[in-house]
Amino acid sequence: MLNGKTAIITGASRGIGAAVARKLSSLGADTALVCAGKIDLAEAVSAECRSLGVRSKSYLCDVADFQAAKELVGQVKKDFGGVDLLVNNAGITRDGLILTMSEADFDAVLDVNLKGAFHMIRHCAPLFLRQKRGAIVNLSSVAGLMGNPGQGNYAASKAGLIGLTKTVARELASRGITCNAVAPGFIDTDMTRALPLDREELLKTIPLGRVGTPEEVAQAVVFLLEAGYITGEVLRVDGGIAM
Ligand code: NAD
Repeated sequence: MLNGKTAIITGASRGIGAAVARKLSSLGADTALVCAGKIDLAEAVSAECRSLGVRSKSYLCDVADFQAAKELVGQVKKDFGGVDLLVNNAGITRDGLILTMSEADFDAVLDVNLKGAFHMIRHCAPLFLRQKRGAIVNLSSVAGLMGNPGQGNYAASKAGLIGLTKTVARELASRGITCNAVAPGFIDTDMTRALPLDREELLKTIPLGRVGTPEEVAQAVVFLLEAGYITGEVLRVDGGIAM
C-alpha cells in the first residue's frame, strides 16, 4: 500500500526521522528527507534508502520558515512528481523551568515543533485535497499528554500538535485524508542522550523497564500512514509511561 508513494519526512537526518525513512523505503515508498543542518547526515540516510531500490533525496530546510516550507514542498513535488505522505517529525528542545525560561527559548521550540508542522501541513494539504488522498503523522510526545517539569515550551508545543492533529483530521476527513499523531515516551536518540538524567531513576518510571528504540516509533508511524480508517488518533509508544 505504501509502494510507489512519496513521503516527506522532516527531521530525517537522524533518530526517529531516519528510522521512519528507512522503514518507508523498505516498504517501497520514495522519500524526501528534510533536515535543518548537517545535510551530509541526511544524504547518508538517503543513500541507505536508495540502496533499497527506491528514490530518495535530502533537502535542507528550516520548517519554522513558512516560505521555505512552501518552496520545499514545491521542490519535492517537482523532483518526485507528487507528495502522498507527510511525517512531521522535526523537533527541538530548549529545556528550562518556567521561572527562568526566556521568551526566545519558548518561541524557538514552538516555532519548530508546532508552527513547523502547521507550515508543512498548510503547504501539503492543497496537493492532498486535489488528489483526494494523503496521510499525515505528527510526532507529539508523552510530555504533551502529561506535562514534564523543565519542558514547559516543549510540552506546550507537543500538546498543541495534538489539537492541530485532531482539527486537521476533521477538516480533511471528507476527502479521505487522515491525520494522526504518535506520542513517544523515552526513545534512545541524540535528543535524549543530550539530557542530564539519572538513567536508573528514569527506568523506574517506565512500566516496561526500558527505553524505546527509533525503530519501534517508526513502526507506529508507518502503521498510521497505512491505516485508512484511523484518523485523529494519538498513539502512545512509551512503554506504558502515560497510561
Ligand atoms: P533528534 O534531535 O535526534 O533529531 C531531530 C531532527 O530534527 C534532526 O534531523 C534535525 O535536523 C531536525 N530539525 C531540527 N530543527 C529543525 C528545523 N527547524 N527544520 C527542519 N528540521 C529540523 O530528535 P529525535 O529524538 O529523533 O526526535 C524526533 C521527534 O520525536 C521530535 O519531534 C521529538 O520531539 C519527538 N520525540 C522524541 C522523543 C525521544 O525520546 N527521542 C520522545 C518524544 C517525542
